[in-house]
Amino acid sequence: MKLDELKNALQEAGVVGAGGAGFPTYAKLSDQAETVILNCAECEPLTKVDRQLAVQYTKEILSGMQMLVECMGAKEGILAIKQSYRAALEAVKAGISDYPSLRLHVLQDVYPAGDEVVLIYETTGRVVPQGKIPIVVGCVVVNVETVLNIYRKIHRQTNVVTKFVTVAGLVNHPATLEVPVGVTVDHLLELAGGVTTKDYEMIMGGPMTGRICTGADLVTKTTKAILVLPPDVPPITKRKRSVKHDVRNAMSVCSQCSMCTSLCPRNLLGSAIRPHEFMRALANGLTDQVDTYLNSFFCVSCGLCEMYSCHQDLSPRRLLDTYKDGLRAAGVKPPERAMKPVDPLRDERKVPEHRLVHRLGLHPFDVDAPLRQETDARQVTLPLRQSIGAPCLPCVAQGDTVSRGQIIGRPPKDSLGVCLHASISGNVTEVTDQAITICS
Ligand code: SF4
Ligand code: SF4
Repeated sequence: MKLDELKNALQEAGVVGAGGAGFPTYAKLSDQAETVILNCAECEPLTKVDRQLAVQYTKEILSGMQMLVECMGAKEGILAIKQSYRAALEAVKAGISDYPSLRLHVLQDVYPAGDEVVLIYETTGRVVPQGKIPIVVGCVVVNVETVLNIYRKIHRQTNVVTKFVTVAGLVNHPATLEVPVGVTVDHLLELAGGVTTKDYEMIMGGPMTGRICTGADLVTKTTKAILVLPPDVPPITKRKRSVKHDVRNAMSVCSQCSMCTSLCPRNLLGSAIRPHEFMRALANGLTDQVDTYLNSFFCVSCGLCEMYSCHQDLSPRRLLDTYKDGLRAAGVKPPERAMKPVDPLRDERKVPEHRLVHRLGLHPFDVDAPLRQETDARQVTLPLRQSIGAPCLPCVAQGDTVSRGQIIGRPPKDSLGVCLHASISGNVTEVTDQAITICS
């Protein structure tokens, strides 16, 4: 298949990165790629989707990777899998010899192994310059579920209408569920046997980078997990504090130990981000430290400084995020900065995932979450914006009858974006400028 044909098919099928911010996959693919990397590192504690898909759909994923390598004319495909994902490693080892362009790379169980830039360095030794994208070093990184969606489109003519979501924590039956895009979190909780307590909070996404959600929130093409947690664990308490409180704390107790910088995964790879300097400038109102503030653009919000590194329970990440948002709103652009060499102590400063899980108070919830299909639903509401790029424009109206897989929204002409499809068959009951609701 030609690269342009593949790109058109993926845009039409609605394929976006299923493991992160949801960048439209067709726009990532390039004939400049030398290396295609499968991201089976699942950065976030408690999420299980990627390792389970690598076991359940091994052939599809290997074949999808081989096709990507061939279509882009790349030299090789690397399957990057964490060493603790034993079943996934065994399954891939058993099948990989049939695919001459592919090789396996076993990753350490550290956080954030799945960060694109960290992953590229670990698997190829190349460093993506700060503020640039992986293709500048000849790499394209794809998530496991994304490759499955690519395979399904090319070999089964299936558009993206389902999402795999791990439901874990205080539920009766933790599970990874394949559900229609557009169901509610409440629907997922019901499928997981209900919540075991009245006193809980929920995070959509992982404990490090996810956000607090409610039962009414919707599953989109990028939803990876729903975690039902006690209100007193750090991933909840830190998110519930006000930014004002975080600033006051920084002013009172930041000891300038610089541990947040010493363990920052991007700083260790040579980026200019130095969270302890940012905290010092912010806490002391140092208005002449312009470079320090501008360097906040190079923080990728992995959360390690806030959830693990800081012994004073401070939140550099939250404050950096707030500052970055302010800079963007003011029209400030990221500065150009040269990279430093990779820190020679980088290997010693990696954070083991099991220690992170304990630090977060999540070890009781790190249990099996069997994979199963639950693709029926009575109602779905499909947001018109589910990925980076332009929101879709609806191409159905209230009262229309639609079939599962039918296109119901298209991106505006010539803009970055992918098509949106009905995830169940039924009647369109509402179309707004935000979403389309279908009832079966
Ligand atoms: S780790 Fe905490 S106390 Fe130390 S410099 Fe960073 S924010 Fe301050
Ligand atoms: S969140 Fe903290 S540790 Fe992560 S990239 Fe930003 S500054 Fe570094």
